Amino acid sequence: MKKPAFEHRARKRFGQNFLTDQSIINSIVRQIAVKEDDNLVEIGPGKGAITSQLVDACPNLQVIELDRDLIPLLLAQFANYRGFKIHQADALKFDFNTLIEGGSPLRVVGNLPYNISTPLIFHLLSFREGIKDMHFMLQKEVVMRLAAKPSEKNYGRLSIMAQYFCCVEHLFDVPPESFEPAPKVDSAIVRLSPHGELPYLAHQPDKFDTLVKTAFSQRRKTLRNSLKSLVADFSIEELNIDLSQRAENLSLADYVALSNRLWPKLNP
Ligand code: SAM
Repeated sequence: MKKPAFEHRARKRFGQNFLTDQSIINSIVRQIAVKEDDNLVEIGPGKGAITSQLVDACPNLQVIELDRDLIPLLLAQFANYRGFKIHQADALKFDFNTLIEGGSPLRVVGNLPYNISTPLIFHLLSFREGIKDMHFMLQKEVVMRLAAKPSEKNYGRLSIMAQYFCCVEHLFDVPPESFEPAPKVDSAIVRLSPHGELPYLAHQPDKFDTLVKTAFSQRRKTLRNSLKSLVADFSIEELNIDLSQRAENLSLADYVALSNRLWPKLNP
């Protein structure tokens, strides 16, 4: 029997779990609230499940898809949309400034492959000044880590680094049956909106990152133990923090304040 022209088998290495549940697709699109003149990019359009509604609302939609076998399918499906543009590329290496320059702040959408979601979010955060918001489908556990507050089970380095740069909203959960093939885990939709101005500013961002990483590398220990190598030369008065707490007890504001006490502003 002759194969249909656009038969495409889901590839594990590209993290392909295609959305098939129309009510979930509708809910995602409703949450994004796309406007006609938005500067909108979708990462990993796949077979166009979300793309078709996005491009109806925003005809200048651009998409970035790594799997070259999907490109003819997308080209044929959206041939009538003159403003629609496909970039056959790896989103992890993509220079998002090329979409930001000269345009309005970028809006990013993606049902992301789970294996690249965290590095991709950090890659996108390096362009945050040109980004208005990002709506992602991720593994539910990752969304819970991104949105977690102090003392919650999922609170950790990812929560603090994401919330340093963005307002994080866990919008709704998506069960495995909504995809083909069904993933082994639950998924969820998250909205990340980069702060216009950072609410807490670390004087030395690399050191702040090291502080958070070090604190959570031994999360069951007290800060006195886990941060021993960083705080040894400082008195309790200088640090102004209760070191009998654990990493999970400190808020983002606490971490930034501690970082700024340990590593003050560098001379301009
Ligand atoms: N948006 C579609 C949907 O909801 O049905 C597909 C989602 S599927 C989970 C992930 C998509 O991202 C696939 O189309 C896959 O080929 C694409 N992809 C995987 N790695 C990528 C990368 N590094 N850059 C861009 N796209 C990628």
